[in-house]
Amino acid sequence: MTEDQVYTCIHCGRDNTEVPLIVFNYKDGNFQICSEHFPVLIHRPHELTGKLPDVENLNPVDHD
Ligand SMILES: [Zn+2]
Repeated sequence: MTEDQVYTCIHCGRDNTEVPLIVFNYKDGNFQICSEHFPVLIHRPHELTGKLPDVENLNPVDHD
């Protein structure tokens, strides 16, 4: 059984018909996040708690 996977941003739920989606690998899974929310993953990963496993263990990147 094959099913087309719908790619949606883990943060806002928009799909690739609305926004560019970046696919990344994490915890042996594939996840998608849109270009608008990619910085959230980098700078405020705690906002993705519940949307990514163990995201609270990620350290925000600080450019200062
Ligand atoms: Zn998004």
